[in-house]
Amino acid sequence: MPASAAPLPILVRKYGGSSLASVDRIGAVARDLAAKRAGGCRLVVVVSAMGRHTDELEHLARQVSPQPPRRELDMLLSVGERVSMSLLSMALEVCGVPAISLTGSQCGVITDESHTEARILEVRADRVREALDRGLVVVVAGFQGVSRQKEITTLGRGGSDATAVALAAALGAERCEILKDVDGVFTADPHLIEGARRHDALTYDEMAAVAEAGCEVVHPRAVAYAREHGVPLFVGSSFHDSPGTLIIPAARTDDRDAPVNPPSRLRPLSLVATDDVALLDLATDDPARFAGWRDAAAAACRGDLFLGEWLEQGPGRCRWRVLHRAEPLARVRDRLAPDVGGPGDAVRFRRGLTCLALAGRPPANWVTVACQVEALLADHAVAESEILADGAVLRLLVRPEDASRLLQPLHDAYLAAETR
Ligand code: ASP
Ligand code: MG
Repeated sequence: MPASAAPLPILVRKYGGSSLASVDRIGAVARDLAAKRAGGCRLVVVVSAMGRHTDELEHLARQVSPQPPRRELDMLLSVGERVSMSLLSMALEVCGVPAISLTGSQCGVITDESHTEARILEVRADRVREALDRGLVVVVAGFQGVSRQKEITTLGRGGSDATAVALAAALGAERCEILKDVDGVFTADPHLIEGARRHDALTYDEMAAVAEAGCEVVHPRAVAYAREHGVPLFVGSSFHDSPGTLIIPAARTDDRDAPVNPPSRLRPLSLVATDDVALLDLATDDPARFAGWRDAAAAACRGDLFLGEWLEQGPGRCRWRVLHRAEPLARVRDRLAPDVGGPGDAVRFRRGLTCLALAGRPPANWVTVACQVEALLADHAVAESEILADGAVLRLLVRPEDASRLLQPLHDAYLAAETR
């Protein structure tokens, strides 16, 4: 390179577990990366664990201990990404691409101390920069970091998206690409819903609402980090060339996607179904009792990201409702059980639910939407349902058998191309 030439742009790419599920896939990814690098860029590649490796490791831990210490879980779970990073690095060398793998700790991902749910505090990416300067492709183990006490931490399930975005921000990368086994962000799962459409572009806020509603295409914390640091984000396929979905800062000027849907003006961008959720609803007229529950629940949940949460705390009426995956929420319920059930208490725990979320943009008001949705539920003979709506998300809690019947009509009503 002549001395005056500008350095090549940095691209951060993240590959999910299903994109790296076999040695064949790792070879295919290495060949794609070799071609990308030949096109002229410096590459940082963040990897997830192969296939379901993290689930398998977690399962091993639960066989040994019903409540594994979180520190030891982190030591175990962080192994998955080390397997894929080293294999990918080897596969790159085979393609003639010099590469080096680095753990989260080696590439300076500094986190807080909350084991299994750690938050990234800063990224000291000097070692990554040095390796890039030496012409290497840097393969990074996602989902992990190191605390200031030098303990290995993990970032919560799905956390390698956050690694990729944080590294992209620290390196001033041109863009961060999240590559998956899907072609981008869709209005609904295209395998299940006729007429599901891919979004060409979403704003950070829109993507955040869709991610928080349970759409697993990009982790909500990664979206929040990207928004905060202005990281250009792209979501697309690792299996073939596809236009994917761009996540952009500004609102679109052309509102071609604005739905009609009078009179509620509901403007969702995505319909997301999440199975096996539970709703915990705790209320009391005794503020002191409530403070006790609240503190115990906070300790039990640590950094958990809920599907939905509503807190009211005022004179004579305190209530906490939370929508979450059934298993961890049952653990919270069990922890509180000895202390609830006094005369002024109202306690409810419902599990075995599917949450259907219409997410992305808020309507004029939710009351009007509820009237429409209730009519749709009646048309499809759904007897038992609960609606929880706020901000940019409407959540419908139904039985799984009703959920499968409702998906297509909900999409037809609010997201199909002809409702535009
Ligand atoms: N391997 C971890 C998980 O399965 C992290 C990730 O995939 O982002 O949750
Ligand atoms: Mg994974």
